[in-house]
Amino acid sequence: MYRRQTDEAKKKGVSNCPLCAIGPAANAKRLYDFKEMEADHVTAWSKGGDTSEANCQMLCKTHNRAKGNA
Ligand SMILES: [Zn+2]
Repeated sequence: MYRRQTDEAKKKGVSNCPLCAIGPAANAKRLYDFKEMEADHVTAWSKGGDTSEANCQMLCKTHNRAKGNA
């Protein structure tokens, strides 16, 4: 998951954290190391999300923690 998302981000020239990539911050083009990121469920389990790959993404730790209920 990490590798695929990072490869796509490199091709587009954006951050491999999708929330950083759409943000105005200096981090918009930052590529994070695997250890700087955490897996996130796009739709939280508590809201009916499943564990499929389509429902997973890697976020930087800052954004994953800000998002909370993943
Ligand atoms: Zn981020």
